[in-house]
Amino acid sequence: MDFSIPPRAAELVPAIRKFVEAELFPLERAFATAGWNACQPQLQAVREKVKQRGWWAPHIEKHLGGMGLSLGEFAHISEELGRTPLGHVAFNCSAPDVGNMEILAKFGTAEQKARYLEPLVAGKIRSCFSMTEPDHPGSNPAWMGTRARKDGEDYVIDGRKWFTSGADGAAVAIVMAITDPENENRYARASMILVPTDAAGFRLVRNVSVMGEPGEGLASHAEIEYEGVRVPRGNLLGEEGAGFAIAQERLGPGRIHHCMRWIGICERAFELMCRRAASRELSPGKPLGTRGPVQVWIAESRAEIDAARLMVLHAAWKIDAEGAFAARDVISTIKFFVAGVLGRVLDRAVQAHGALGLTDDLPLAYWYRHERAARIYDGPDEVHQASLARRILRGYGLETR
Ligand SMILES: Cc1cc2nc3c(=O)[nH]c(=O)nc-3n(C[C@H](O)[C@H](O)[C@H](O)COP(=O)(O)OP(=O)(O)OC[C@H]3O[C@@H](n4cnc5c(N)ncnc54)[C@H](O)[C@@H]3O)c2cc1C
Repeated sequence: MDFSIPPRAAELVPAIRKFVEAELFPLERAFATAGWNACQPQLQAVREKVKQRGWWAPHIEKHLGGMGLSLGEFAHISEELGRTPLGHVAFNCSAPDVGNMEILAKFGTAEQKARYLEPLVAGKIRSCFSMTEPDHPGSNPAWMGTRARKDGEDYVIDGRKWFTSGADGAAVAIVMAITDPENENRYARASMILVPTDAAGFRLVRNVSVMGEPGEGLASHAEIEYEGVRVPRGNLLGEEGAGFAIAQERLGPGRIHHCMRWIGICERAFELMCRRAASRELSPGKPLGTRGPVQVWIAESRAEIDAARLMVLHAAWKIDAEGAFAARDVISTIKFFVAGVLGRVLDRAVQAHGALGLTDDLPLAYWYRHERAARIYDGPDEVHQASLARRILRGYGLETR
C-alpha cells in the first residue's frame, strides 16, 4: 500500500479545510441549538458555493454530475467534511443519500437513473433506505417480515420498518423486502425496490425521537407502514433476489464513508481538547495540560486516531483494488474499531472541557449524543466482531456456526 495522500486529494484537502472553517463552522451553534431547519437558508447558500467550486457530490462519477473521486481519494475529503456536523450535507454526500446514489449509479436502469439518481445528484430530492424492522432484529437482516409479492406487472409491498433515516421529506425509499420466501439460500430471498414516498399505502407513522432529538426532515428516523403499496416491476433495483448482494456493495464503501467522517470528528474533538488543555488554567500559571491524566488522554487519542486512519485508508485501498467482498474482513475491523475510538475521543474531549463540554457552544455535545449510534448502525460492534473472529478461526480449522 502507498501511504502518500493521492495527488488530487492532497491538492483539495487544504482548500476544502479552509472553506469548511470559514463557511460552516460559524453555522454550528444555530444548528446545535435549533436543528437543520434553523440554518437552511445559510446552508443552501454554502451548497451553491460548493457547486461553483466544482466540489459537489465528490463520490459520484463526473458524467453523472459529481467529482469522480475514487474511494481512497474521497476518504480524505470525507475526513475534512467530518470536522463539522454540516460538512457532508453541504457537499451533497451525506448518508443515506450517499449510499443510495452509489447503488443507483451501479445497478439502476436508465429510467431509474433519470427519475431518481439525476435529481439526487443535483440535490433536488432526498432519499432513504428502508431495511430495519421494529419486529425483527436488524443484526440478522435476512430474517425480516416485509414482503413484496408479484401481482400482474406490479409488486405489492406489505410490512413495517423503522429507523428509516431521512424518510421525512424524502422523495423515494429504497425498500428491502422478501420476494422469494422459499429460496433455500436465505440471502437470495430479498430484493430492493424503489418506492416513491407519495405511493398509496406508504404511511409515515412517526418520526422516532432519538437521544432527545425529535428527529424531523433530514434528521428523522421514521417508522413506516407499507400497506399494499403497489409499484411497477420496473422499480426493482438490480436483479430479483439480489437485495443482500447490493446491500453488501452499499455497505462496504458506506462504512468507509462513516469511518472517515468519524475520524474528522475525532480530529476536531482532539484539536478542541488540546486547545483547552493549553489555555484553561486550573490555578495561576498551571493549565490543564500540565496534569498527567490529561496528557494520557491526549497521547492515547493521538495514537488511536492515527491507527484508525491508517486502517480505514487501507480498507479503502483494498476495496478500490479488489472490491468490497474481498475487503470484508478489514471492513468489519474498521467498523467496530473506529466507532470505539470515536466514542473514547469524544468522551475525553467532553471531560477536558468540564461543563463547557456539555453546552452547545461547541459541537462536542451534539456529537457525543448523536454518535453513540455509531456502534449500532450498519451492524452493531458484536456482529462485526463475531463475523471477523469466525473467519479467522476458520483458518484454524474451527467452524463456529
Ligand atoms: C441512528 C441510526 C440510524 C439508522 N439508520 C437506518 C437506516 O437509514 N435504514 C435502516 O434500514 N436501518 C437504520 N438503522 C438501523 C440499524 O441498522 C439497526 O439498528 C442495526 O442493524 C441493529 O439492529 P437492531 O436495532 O434491530 O438491534 P438487534 O438486532 O435487536 O440487536 C440488539 C443488540 O444485540 C447485540 N447483538 C446482535 N447480534 C449479536 C451477536 N451476533 N452477538 C452478540 N451480540 C449481538 C448488539 O449489541 C445489538 O446492539 C439505524 C439505526 C440508528 C441507531
